Amino acid sequence: MAHYDYDLFVIGAGSGGVRAARLASELGARVGIAEEYRIGGTCVIRGCVPKKLLVYGSRYGSELADAHGFGWTCGELSFDWPTLIHNVKREVDRLNGVYTRTLETAGVDRFLTRAAVEGPHEIKLADRDGARSAKTILVATGGHPVMPDVPGKEHLISSNECFELEQLPESIVIIGAGYISMEFASIFSGLGVAVTVLYRGEQVLRDFDMDLRDGLAEAMRNRGIDLRMNTDITSIEKEGDGYRVQLKRGDSVAAGLVMAATGRAPNTSGFGLQQLGIDLGWNGRIAVDEFSKSSVDSLYAVGDVTDRKNLTPVAIHEATAFVETVFNERPTPVDHSFIPTAVFSQPEIGTVGLSEEKAREMHPHIDVYKAHFRPLKSMISGRDEKMLMKLVIDAASDKVLGCHILGSDAAEIVQMAAVALRLGVTKAQLDATMALHPSAAEELVTLRHRWEPPAPVAGSDAAA
Ligand SMILES: Cc1cc2nc3c(=O)[nH]c(=O)nc-3n(C[C@H](O)[C@H](O)[C@H](O)COP(=O)(O)OP(=O)(O)OC[C@H]3O[C@@H](n4cnc5c(N)ncnc54)[C@H](O)[C@@H]3O)c2cc1C
Repeated sequence: MAHYDYDLFVIGAGSGGVRAARLASELGARVGIAEEYRIGGTCVIRGCVPKKLLVYGSRYGSELADAHGFGWTCGELSFDWPTLIHNVKREVDRLNGVYTRTLETAGVDRFLTRAAVEGPHEIKLADRDGARSAKTILVATGGHPVMPDVPGKEHLISSNECFELEQLPESIVIIGAGYISMEFASIFSGLGVAVTVLYRGEQVLRDFDMDLRDGLAEAMRNRGIDLRMNTDITSIEKEGDGYRVQLKRGDSVAAGLVMAATGRAPNTSGFGLQQLGIDLGWNGRIAVDEFSKSSVDSLYAVGDVTDRKNLTPVAIHEATAFVETVFNERPTPVDHSFIPTAVFSQPEIGTVGLSEEKAREMHPHIDVYKAHFRPLKSMISGRDEKMLMKLVIDAASDKVLGCHILGSDAAEIVQMAAVALRLGVTKAQLDATMALHPSAAEELVTLRHRWEPPAPVAGSDAAA
């Protein structure tokens, strides 16, 4: 029988890798893990966690403004970026320590270096000679920001550098309009930076429900963010202390910083996967089956590197299912349906299931229920921002296919809605659920009137 140094060797100590390494080790496997940057990965070091802390920090300004109507006088406000970013970094360091100790306690061998795959069972570590062997290799190397290929691209920062800024600029241009762009636009704007978003598409947040897209764009504009759609860039030039972004249609925008939020790609190059002949998708993602097994029997992959649904809980879920399958004799496929997701913009989005547009493509007849309303708090705060609650229903089965929320606490509400949708909740069951009053979430169980699309506009004769 072949002897290996490890039962499992994990490449990448992010959300997926750390979870798999710890669980496999707790089941008695001999486990090694390599990490080339910092243990914790994108989520902990330069993704979800530091971003959410910046989101919290950026919301105080508008909350203090809203407090006025409730009788509070807050005096002159000032904000100090170095304090915020210093405290965020301190929390990231703490979590980095927690993740490191988790691996240590579980008895996982840690290698703080880059790893490469040298064969179906061989791993080469960049900082030492010789190869390590493992019965199973798990690739959990995540992804990286993709930068637009335009002249002057060296001037661009990505979300990674946002967590390292020593000073806030007075103005920023953000290229792209996905969730990372929307979140950072809201963060910077909330902290007093003048924000311009440039996007070549028609509307922000491609693939989200159209009501959410339109509602968020309108609300962000009302909060002073300059969102420019159908706008392509041609180059970025240095100008004084800042930059000038040239637009395809001829004009330009000046800003203190230019950030690209133009998507992410899987980390699959430069560490032996191509040489091994593993099947990769069009964008370099590792192609895997429902058990996260690649085209090479001994090599599995989880998380963003497989580009299935690039979210932390998904990477963790895939890692857990992988360990159950390979180390606990319980083959566990991953179910990627009804994954709740949030956009921590201002206002916030929480969404789960099918958008109205997708549902119309997939189901012959759907019903839509929606409510646009001013939340109670805004009656006194004076903030003129509507909340949206929307349900998409399969008319034949009465099942709820999608739930979409724009407004305060949308993420918190949608997490619980996701439980119901996953269990196949019907509209009738929602209607039979007692409301919790007064809350915004009660709208989800009190939506009574089916939304009818506006009648088609009459022809020019009738209109005349
Ligand atoms: C700005 C931002 C905000 C986000 N916000 C959210 C959010 O709010 N909610 C959410 O669910 N998700 C969010 N995400 C996505 C989330 O961070 C990822 O889905 C998640 O981290 C994926 O985990 P992973 O284990 O696949 O990869 P990662 O966490 O990226 O870990 C991969 C690790 O592998 C290491 N590595 C790569 N190659 C090698 C190699 N050859 N050798 C050794 N080590 C290697 C990397 O250094 C990295 O640490 C956000 C992402 C970003 C960028």
